Amino acid sequence: MIARLVLGIETSCDETACSVAGLDALGVPRVLSNVIASQTDLHSEYGGVVPEIASRAHVEALLPVVREALSQAGVGLGMISAVAVGNRPGLIGSLLVGVAGAKALAWALQRPLIGVDHVRAHLYSGLLDGELPAADALPALGLVVSGGHTAMYRVRSWTDIMRLGSTIDDAAGEAFDKVGAMMGLAHPGGPAIDRLARDPAANDRAYALPISRLSPASLDFSFSGLKTAVLYALRGVPGEAARRAVAAGERAAHVELTSEQRRDLAASFQRSVAEALVLKLGRAAGDGSGYRSLLVGGGVSANSRVRTELASFAAQRKLRLVLPPLCYCMDNAAMIAGLGAEQLAEQLAKQLAEKQSAVGCERLALQSSDLALEAHPMSLECPAHGAMP
Ligand code: ADP
Ligand code: MG
Repeated sequence: MIARLVLGIETSCDETACSVAGLDALGVPRVLSNVIASQTDLHSEYGGVVPEIASRAHVEALLPVVREALSQAGVGLGMISAVAVGNRPGLIGSLLVGVAGAKALAWALQRPLIGVDHVRAHLYSGLLDGELPAADALPALGLVVSGGHTAMYRVRSWTDIMRLGSTIDDAAGEAFDKVGAMMGLAHPGGPAIDRLARDPAANDRAYALPISRLSPASLDFSFSGLKTAVLYALRGVPGEAARRAVAAGERAAHVELTSEQRRDLAASFQRSVAEALVLKLGRAAGDGSGYRSLLVGGGVSANSRVRTELASFAAQRKLRLVLPPLCYCMDNAAMIAGLGAEQLAEQLAKQLAEKQSAVGCERLALQSSDLALEAHPMSLECPAHGAMP
């Protein structure tokens, strides 16, 4: 039984997504639909996301994606109790499309509008359709590892999240994508590198690539040195010969790698990224006693080597590993709708505690930390037709 259904919208980068989700009677987030229109094909010829193209594509895709999400969930707009939207961080033009669409829907439906932080939603994504209510996973150590973010968090509640450290240069996914581009692989590079590295014959120690430690107690990440080491493996280390060649107006020698070497390089790079993540998680976890679980989210959490390393780390530290299934690793709206439902429940509980009577016509203002999105007059009673089996 899902008491309140939340429609979630996600447009922070190059995926237009919409989902219907809600908390069941035990407080476990249940996803009724999860629709994603990816723009990968539109951007692939440029080797990265072009913000202006992304915004325009969101405008075209948003309404069809919302309609499809409602249809797959088997619900009408009247059954939606709130509209949640990823409102930060992300490409500003892309975010604006989702926020404008969500505002219009919330206004038309006279339902509250909930701003959801995209990075927090990645932290939440492993709990979707899981076995335990989100609250049972806390306090948790969190890791978001995606195309735009690589950071660790202490999660005490969904409104009490402290960042412990983050990348000082590239995000891990960005390093995957750039290394993929250097190796001539299709964009995005992450899945392509993963495929190459998964070859059972791959030797992940063939290349001695650096694992950034920074200072002994640092909880920050750095992937730019690793990226440069891959560049040197592909193009040769700049040295006297290369300098002489450039001075003579020639191209520096290019190292031609065999397909076996490329596969080994992919595996060695992937191992270095996974080990760098686990190294810093180890520092942040301490003896692990302060945390019940390890929440991980973001596109790079789909990586096979990263998943294996995280599983053995969590087992060693006796942490429950909460890792999203592959469908919730990359950007999606189910995580926005799920965390939106959590925020709605928290807000309603707070309001009910404050005002135990005459709440029917209260004005509910749900705000996200930076971009305040004012909601609309609503009934705090769950609409009778909102109850789902
Ligand atoms: P963001 O929200 O920051 O745009 P996403 O969470 O959508 O990022 O994740 C996209 C990133 O995930 C890309 O950098 C992509 O290369 C990476 N990625 C996806 N699948 C894999 C994989 N199997 N291995 C490594 N990286 C991956
Ligand atoms: Mg993301």
